[in-house]
Amino acid sequence: MLTLEKFSIGVGDRFAHQAKAQLHACILARNAGADVVPVWNKSNREHSFIGSEPASVLAAAKDAVSALQWTGGWHVDADHIRLETVDRFLPHSDFFTLDVADSIGKPAATADVDAFLERHPELIGAIQIHKIATPFHTTRDEVRRIAEKFLLAVQDAGKIHRHIAAHKGAGNFIAEISMDETDSPQTPPELLVILAAIADEQIPVQTIAPKFTGRFNKGVDYVGDLVQFEKEFHDDLAVIAHAIARYGLPANLKLSVHSGSDKFSLYPIIHRLLPQFSAGLHIKTAGTTWLEELIGLAEADGDGLAFSKEIYIHALEHLDELTGPYATVIDIDPAKLPSASEVAAWTSAQFTGALRHDQSHPLFNPSFRQLLHVAFKLAAKQGRRYLDLLKTHEAVVARNVTENLFDRHLKPLFLGV
Ligand SMILES: [Zn+2]
Repeated sequence: MLTLEKFSIGVGDRFAHQAKAQLHACILARNAGADVVPVWNKSNREHSFIGSEPASVLAAAKDAVSALQWTGGWHVDADHIRLETVDRFLPHSDFFTLDVADSIGKPAATADVDAFLERHPELIGAIQIHKIATPFHTTRDEVRRIAEKFLLAVQDAGKIHRHIAAHKGAGNFIAEISMDETDSPQTPPELLVILAAIADEQIPVQTIAPKFTGRFNKGVDYVGDLVQFEKEFHDDLAVIAHAIARYGLPANLKLSVHSGSDKFSLYPIIHRLLPQFSAGLHIKTAGTTWLEELIGLAEADGDGLAFSKEIYIHALEHLDELTGPYATVIDIDPAKLPSASEVAAWTSAQFTGALRHDQSHPLFNPSFRQLLHVAFKLAAKQGRRYLDLLKTHEAVVARNVTENLFDRHLKPLFLGV
């Protein structure tokens, strides 16, 4: 079976110019003692916004791996695919994120829910899980309610998985199941029921992305109760270890944290908890490489800074249109957005200070950053002009991409510094 390594980082590279700079961060991590493999991910939605094809992600990854002589693992993730969107990814991906969030809450056939309850009497009553002090107490009605909410989603994942397996051969690809893009978080007892259903459906899932408690806004820090997050993450890890042993799921099954970049307040918690369970981690970054491109261009000054300013000023003009589709994953305070004339007068240091995710920097502005995060479509519209600027200023852009991944992500998560 193609096996996902213990630690992996999902990197997005919307414009397919930063694969080398991203891989460079994994090399720095390896040299510092942490083996983290890159997974280049791009969703169908991103491809449509940019006008790119899945083949381009594989090509950029291959180039980077050969240019930097990377000998570790690496993968290409067809991110957030469904049965309707998976086909064009099949030849170009070895990792598939089966997104079944839309089916959560839609009822499965009553006979299927009944059969699930008959098959799993162990899910009803007191469930003792290693390293969870107080056993879960569930009633038949609660387990029925959970099954009614999630069984159809798991059945959907099974359909997508079988479709991929028919084309690529069972065991020749890595399956992730994602349930993060939904309204309410899944509790650890719900996760246990979901994993039992996944085992029934015979999906060899290697990583699962639940929705966690709190807000995972794009490109900024976690907003929520850290104590509650820690308890939930701990219990999720315990539930996964339990489900691997009890239901025969793959031994390397691990959590996947989506929109996981920039969640600086969570990293020490995650770093502390993983070894307690010898658990792995997949962390998906939220497409923030694009922001490092803008920072690099701004740092380059001249035509680069002018371009970054122009994107912001256009974004301000199209504020509602750009932010609307992301309403649940961004929190922009319009009063904190600098005006077009202010930004037009900014120096390179003012622009990078406002945008770069350094919370201790006096100029850092999360509203400014989040607006630019969703403004990548404006750069896509510039086409060649944008890509040419990335080439001209490749060195400074690459330095920012690598530093962001290594210093602000891989170090605290996997090296604990
Ligand atoms: Zn996601």
